[in-house]
Amino acid sequence: MINTVLSQIFEAIEKSPSVMLFRHRRIDGDCVGATKGLKGIIHATWPEKKVYIIDNEKSEYLSFMGADDEAVSDEVYKNALGIVIDVANADRISNQKYSLCSPIIKIDHHIDREAFGDINWVEEDRSSACEMIAHFYSVFQNKLKINTEAATYIYTGMLTDSGRFQYEGVTGDTLRLAGLMLDQKIDIETLNAHLYMRDFDQLKFKAFIYENMCQTPGGVAYIHVTKEIQAHFHLNFESASNAISSLSDIKGILCWLAFIDAEGGEIRVRLRSRFAHINTIAEKYHGGGHACASGATVYSLDEMKQLIDDADKHISEYKKTHTGWL
Ligand code: AMP
Repeated sequence: MINTVLSQIFEAIEKSPSVMLFRHRRIDGDCVGATKGLKGIIHATWPEKKVYIIDNEKSEYLSFMGADDEAVSDEVYKNALGIVIDVANADRISNQKYSLCSPIIKIDHHIDREAFGDINWVEEDRSSACEMIAHFYSVFQNKLKINTEAATYIYTGMLTDSGRFQYEGVTGDTLRLAGLMLDQKIDIETLNAHLYMRDFDQLKFKAFIYENMCQTPGGVAYIHVTKEIQAHFHLNFESASNAISSLSDIKGILCWLAFIDAEGGEIRVRLRSRFAHINTIAEKYHGGGHACASGATVYSLDEMKQLIDDADKHISEYKKTHTGWL
């Protein structure tokens, strides 16, 4: 079944002179790596094809991965195959002109919300969309070409979305496919320095988080990064959002939340968990995502408190009904 879909995707790319690649809003290493990686594979295999990634979103953290393409006319979209990667529902696609393309292919590893593609390849158990692109490459290895640059993009997404290969979705296949990418002689030391070195100020902010984080009786940790805190530490929205990563390793805390003040009174929520699944909580608060990594939005401090209470009840219940959690 999956192999039929993969063959359909291969054939669609093979016969399209022009391909446009799309990803989700609030870009991350996985959606950037997957689109740039697939673009690299298509270019290496069929140098005559035109391949575009057009996206207004920028990320300081991911700037080392390079810029995207310049805007093009609607005519170019209309004559292109569109491939949307790492997006569960169409309204989260960062460039909404994707709908001008035909046909449209969806490649995703999130909980399946909407089959917006003419061809849909969704595998919820994959640790990253980049793992799916690596798998696609491995299935058609005798026909596709890859190079160091494309492999580095794909490896980047595999690394970042799996928390350096530590989350639930990581399988033997994940590591075999990562190995296939590493065979392309990726400069691991430089890549890790780009991804994991922090500025002095960012570490000061981390210290602030450890000083000010809160916990609930049931085992939920959270921090609210208000506008004032963002100003104090000179944080942009992206660096403020990184607060979530500081809360991940606390024993007995199975769910952790970062609330980030955004524009227009919105408070962006990042939800993470281990053992227990928290996507249903994200879905209740205007969001969604993966079982253990989701995003949501709340619109007031009251709603923020409700979400924390829901998470607390959910984790308490999980702890009562399960053993083996840490
Ligand atoms: P984030 O905390 O933004 O890194 O999001 C964690 C995961 O949830 C990512 O895979 C996102 O694509 C997904 N996600 C974030 N926000 C939403 C949302 N509002 N609706 C659906 N999925 C989301």
